[in-house]
Amino acid sequence: MPAMFEQLGVIGCGLMGGSFAMAMKRAGLVKRVVGYSKSPSTTERARQMGVIDVEAPSALLAVSGADIVLLAVPVAATEATFKAIRHLVTANMLVMDVGSTKRDVVDAARRVLRDHVGAFVPAHPIAGKEVSGVEHADPDLYTGRQVILTPTDKTLAGHLKKAQEVWEALGCHVQQMAPESHDAAFAAVSHLPHLLAFALMSGILHQPHGKDFLGLAGPGFKDFTRIAASDPKMWRDVLLANKHELIEQAKIYQRALHYLLQQVEEGQGEKLEALITEASQARAHWRMGQKAK
Ligand code: NAP
Repeated sequence: MPAMFEQLGVIGCGLMGGSFAMAMKRAGLVKRVVGYSKSPSTTERARQMGVIDVEAPSALLAVSGADIVLLAVPVAATEATFKAIRHLVTANMLVMDVGSTKRDVVDAARRVLRDHVGAFVPAHPIAGKEVSGVEHADPDLYTGRQVILTPTDKTLAGHLKKAQEVWEALGCHVQQMAPESHDAAFAAVSHLPHLLAFALMSGILHQPHGKDFLGLAGPGFKDFTRIAASDPKMWRDVLLANKHELIEQAKIYQRALHYLLQQVEEGQGEKLEALITEASQARAHWRMGQKAK
């Protein structure tokens, strides 16, 4: 199959950007990858590892000559990145991102790209690791994973189709959603669980015997808190970017927790068991990427 693209420009050669570059090259979808990261040492490392072919000294130069561009920077850096590249964004170029939040990213694209916003197809691959950096980039990161595309009324139909083809060629299952629906859903199933994991660790650490307690913890604790080891800056940005939806989900959680605790306090064994049964069965039947029955 001939390559779909001549040149990929990756801005942010970390875990997500590096993995995309590797997967695109391995699939033969692109001939050349030009990369740029904030620290020249990251870009250099990405080239030494063979993740990118050419180091660009700026975001704008990473986009120059590209027919596909991926922004894989922290969501808070998205607007500045669009500003840095906007002079070279044209309708002949497919521009995507991988940000974990979508409304802020789409708003930034509208504000900055203006007439060329149609070239941008917002994307969120439901893939990742709790470790960051190009050292952990992996060409299989996206294989078999879901990717949510959140097009707007301005997104060019041809670009949307091409974006879908790219992710599918990397082995992903693609869904489309409005940015607002995306952010509401991921507040519930991703952002709140991270907040809870951080809070649980923090609550234990700040009590007198917390460190001793941690020494006793077993596999359940290990599963529950795996995501508490995630990248602090990335999660700071995600939680702030989606704060309204996150607060809504936290209120729902607080009500559920309050109700459960009330049953514990009042010794309501039957009610407690009924609630746990409902949760336990839903979790037992849950499969990643499938709607709950
Ligand atoms: P990462 O491994 O830390 O990579 C981020 C890269 O962006 C780094 O190379 C960093 O460069 C670069 N960067 C930071 N600010 C920049 C700027 N202003 N201009 C250019 N490059 C900049 O993080 P990641 O996990 O790949 O995350 C990237 C994006 O993917 C985030 O928006 C995140 O929300 C999204 N995402 C992550 C996951 C996950 O599990 N990790 C899952 C889904 C989506 P330096 O090395 O120089 O700092």
